[in-house]
Amino acid sequence: MPEADVVTIGAPMLPDPARLAALMGEAIGTGWLANGGVLHSRLERALARDNCRPGQSLALVSSGTTALMLALRLGNLPEGSEVITSPLSFAATVQAIAWCGFRPVFADVDPDTLTLCPRAVEAAVTPRTAAVLPVHFLGVPCDVAGLAQVARRHRLWLVHDAAHAFGVTLDGRPIAAFGDASAFSLHATKVLHTGEGGFVVTGEARAAERLRRLRNFGLEAGRMAGPGINGKLSEMQAAMGLALLPDLPAEIAARHALRARYDAALAGLSAIRVPEGRAGASPALTTYALRMDAGLRARLHWTLAEDRVLARDHFPLLCGPGTAWPDAPIVTTAPAPVAPLVGPEVLCLPFYGRVSDRDADRIAAIVRRVADEEERA
Ligand SMILES: *Cc1c(COP(=O)(O)O)cnc(C)c1O
Repeated sequence: MPEADVVTIGAPMLPDPARLAALMGEAIGTGWLANGGVLHSRLERALARDNCRPGQSLALVSSGTTALMLALRLGNLPEGSEVITSPLSFAATVQAIAWCGFRPVFADVDPDTLTLCPRAVEAAVTPRTAAVLPVHFLGVPCDVAGLAQVARRHRLWLVHDAAHAFGVTLDGRPIAAFGDASAFSLHATKVLHTGEGGFVVTGEARAAERLRRLRNFGLEAGRMAGPGINGKLSEMQAAMGLALLPDLPAEIAARHALRARYDAALAGLSAIRVPEGRAGASPALTTYALRMDAGLRARLHWTLAEDRVLARDHFPLLCGPGTAWPDAPIVTTAPAPVAPLVGPEVLCLPFYGRVSDRDADRIAAIVRRVADEEERA
């Protein structure tokens, strides 16, 4: 089979080379390549239009991980604070907590949405808890209202990891409308990207200035005024984001169409489910996830790979044996933590705009065949 027949889990949006070159030419013309610049400001304004509600501000940063770190720092948490988070996420979520000098505390997830459970968070609160960092896991919004209630009751800073939820709305509002701050990634594996990059959205007073200071070594008017790091995005990266923006609506439409095609082809299976997500939320743009028992998932993963389809299990647990937090418990209100059981039930199918109808149908046919075999067995 020719190499072109391999379908990977994701593929980055690729810019029109002439458009990218023109934007790079514009940056070169200004002689200004980093520390803000015309392209940087233009991309910040464009992203703010779609991702902020009135009173919120948006700051571009060097990665989604940096966005998480700066969003946590914005809360002025005491050194050594505990931050409650989900054991189901990408490594960046917990690494950002640790890199800030905070201690991650893992709380259980809701068995249906796979997002942080407010009751488990409540049970994990100690006198040292200062923040909660839930994840809109696989693009499904977490229980923003339930988590905000717990956070308010215990005066905790609430940062959402929104890396999977770019472009998602909840009850008609952009996903960044919820929580004290939200962190997004502009990495090539996400929807819109700058190669590497990210952004923070927050409604905090003076947030725009504070974020500008945090991402620029803590400097204000040349003086080191507080904590900071080099978390800036360059003009070359901003050029990439701006070059892709005109193609974003088509990419989003293609992903919605791919989801509809998978949904139609996979309807009515009993061994494999397409999770419903959360009521009031628009569908995820980053992933197309299936749920099934862990044994079937392993078989399906392998069968797809034999047919040159690289599906992906999202993600290994962030705590427990073999991780950087081997002894960290998962605080739960269930008889036993559900995250270690439900995590291995997820398999994500290739999901990006350039997946052809032919490949989508071929992939769905394999999933149906494996599910049918399972039901007959
Ligand atoms: C991608 C991702 C990040 C980090 O983004 P980077 O831009 O790669 O640093 C954080 N959290 C989650 C859930 C992610 O998937």
